[in-house]
Amino acid sequence: MDKVISVSFGEIALKSGNRKYFEDKLIKQMRKAIADVGYEKIYKEMGKIYIEASEDYYPQIINRLRKVFGLVYISPCIRVEQDFEEIKKASIQAILERIEDSRIKTFKVETNRADKKFSMKSPEVSKEVGAVILKNIENLTVDVHKPDVFVYVDIRQNAYIYTEKIKGYGGLPIGTNGKGLLLLSGGIDSPVAGFMMARRGVEINAVHYHSYPFTSERAEEKVKDLAGILSRYIGTIKLFSVNIIEIQKQINKNCPKDEMTILSRRFMMRIAESIAKENNYQALITGENLGQVASQTIEGLNVTNSSVELPVFRPLIGFDKVDIVDIAKDIETYETSILPYDDCCTVFLPKHPVTKPRLDNIEESEKALDVDKLIEAALDNMKTYIIQ
Ligand code: ATP
Ligand code: MG
Repeated sequence: MDKVISVSFGEIALKSGNRKYFEDKLIKQMRKAIADVGYEKIYKEMGKIYIEASEDYYPQIINRLRKVFGLVYISPCIRVEQDFEEIKKASIQAILERIEDSRIKTFKVETNRADKKFSMKSPEVSKEVGAVILKNIENLTVDVHKPDVFVYVDIRQNAYIYTEKIKGYGGLPIGTNGKGLLLLSGGIDSPVAGFMMARRGVEINAVHYHSYPFTSERAEEKVKDLAGILSRYIGTIKLFSVNIIEIQKQINKNCPKDEMTILSRRFMMRIAESIAKENNYQALITGENLGQVASQTIEGLNVTNSSVELPVFRPLIGFDKVDIVDIAKDIETYETSILPYDDCCTVFLPKHPVTKPRLDNIEESEKALDVDKLIEAALDNMKTYIIQ
């Protein structure tokens, strides 16, 4: 009888053709996530992944694994041979470890027989294990509807007995769905947007725009911190930092005041697209959300889109702010996002930004600027940071 951690994955299992590819990516991400904590072995067994490690490291390992996309739940297990006497002993042991928590009064056994060669059928296993628990432990009763604790018996090459399912974020392993470039401000929304796309398997890198010396160096530090928090989920992030003050000055000088925001947004998009193409990223990602601010109307988003060819993913488009805040808190970006800082968007911010921009008007206004040259100059001064 010994202990291991088991990991279940959801959607990957459905992708039968590519299953091995997804599993291998997942194992690679898991290894990376727990490398510095320490483990002995990771192995696959009939569609689940198992980790052998010292029990002292379990809390840390589980905490790290929770941040690996593709994992649906994680369970510390007792592993025994495929032998019914052993399974019964392990089940008693597993529930004894839980009933130190005195609130536990009822239980239910759930059996999964992944190895159909095992001679007993699942309901029979559950029934007999239930009986042996009742016989050996006092003050416990069975509740098949709403038990305080489940005892899971999972019969594979070995048998695994566990009572906890710790939820992971699900999704798909990073790197199984291409690469994207996140427009990362210091706000609440864009880190969440990056998290959401990463959870769908997109490898994320980020670009940040600042208006130094109109904005402080602290603003850039804050964005590095946010990228650092995201990297706990995503792995290494390349962060491109671009100064756009000259562009903003030129817009302010040569274009209608109420178009400041939408015009700078189009520059941000174009610069992002240029970086993306250079690095073979296939999509841009923003934290935009319909109706949240003046530039985030359907018209505004359309005019923004027209400046680039790459697809622009806006995973938060239909979310309410409270829901975004909940995710930001859960993924631990919120506390950093709400720190005061100066945002480049507040430089030359118009009192009444245009809410229903028309593409022809905007393109007309841009004729007063040397768009290509301004972009080139901004890119020439770009800084790149590796965040991990
Ligand atoms: P956020 O909370 O992400 O800042 P927001 O609600 O403040 O979003 P806007 O300021 O209109 O909305 O920005 C919309 C999106 O444009 C952001 O989510 C981000 O993707 C991008 N963006 C805005 N400012 C910057 C910036 N300084 N650097 C990089 N991207 C930016
Ligand atoms: Mg913002």
